[in-house]
Amino acid sequence: MAFEGLANRLQNVFGKLKGKGKVSEEDVGEAMREVRLALLEADVNFKVVKEFIAKVKEQAVGQDVLKSFTPGMVVIDIVNKELTNLMGGTQSKLAKSNRPPTVIMMVGLQGAGKTTTTGKLAKLLQKQNHRPLLVAGDIYRPAAIKQLEVLGEQIKVPVFSMGDKTSPVEIARSGMQHAKDNGHDYVIIDTAGRLHIDESLMDELKQIREVVKPDEVLLVVDAMTGQDAVNVAESFHQQMELTGVVLTKLDGDTRGGAALSVKAVTGCPIKFAAMGEKIDALEPFHPDRMASRILG
Ligand code: GDP
Repeated sequence: MAFEGLANRLQNVFGKLKGKGKVSEEDVGEAMREVRLALLEADVNFKVVKEFIAKVKEQAVGQDVLKSFTPGMVVIDIVNKELTNLMGGTQSKLAKSNRPPTVIMMVGLQGAGKTTTTGKLAKLLQKQNHRPLLVAGDIYRPAAIKQLEVLGEQIKVPVFSMGDKTSPVEIARSGMQHAKDNGHDYVIIDTAGRLHIDESLMDELKQIREVVKPDEVLLVVDAMTGQDAVNVAESFHQQMELTGVVLTKLDGDTRGGAALSVKAVTGCPIKFAAMGEKIDALEPFHPDRMASRILG
């Protein structure tokens, strides 16, 4: 389960606090020390942890809280609210262009789950009665085009491809035209992922962006890589002005560091979370629900 380690630790800390009729400033201090450790062990960015603890403490040690009828519960509420804020506060929705098609560019490093997520997103949009078109722009990874075509077939969403001999910029341009000609209201462009961020990858992505003028540039990152995922997000955001992040493999991420740090570090909201390999394992990311899940 996602966040298992962190959830267990925090539920343990707050279980003790909840049971107390009276809560002293020392009790809160002790609980916050444990929360701090739990967050660091969950691989949350150090600076993010520091600011988080300071914010909670500032609100929790006031006399109003400690003298309240259920002080333990009030402290937990404060932590819940701040965890929600940390992950972006409210749900950040997918953009919708008033001049369809809405264009979504998927970017990320190889292996993060970009191609799978592209298919999942198409399925999600289709369920909402949209008519998405998938564009196969990853011409470098062997079998990436085939993989997208198989996914498209599975969910009955058309895939526009021009093989691997045409430049991705040209594929994107032609894909856009195809979408307009065929009445698609969403275009999702799968782009090349490399093993590392390099200049040629970024240049190509920027060229595609120039041509398709996307409403969304979504970065797909593997949550299991923790702070590496956050660093990747930061680099991509600096170069590509991302509009959102998709966290994948949350089903295998027992720590949760990426989910808790990425918004705070990059300023870029998490828009979706993927929790499994199956085609319907993609959900809009709700910071409040995620916080409640962590606190149990
Ligand atoms: P790409 O190179 O970024 O396009 O990555 P792929 O879409 O090919 O995915 C790489 C691997 O990660 C595949 O085996 C996927 O099935 C797997 N994968 C993708 N998303 C998830 C997820 O949310 N959970 C799990 N457990 N596996 C995932």
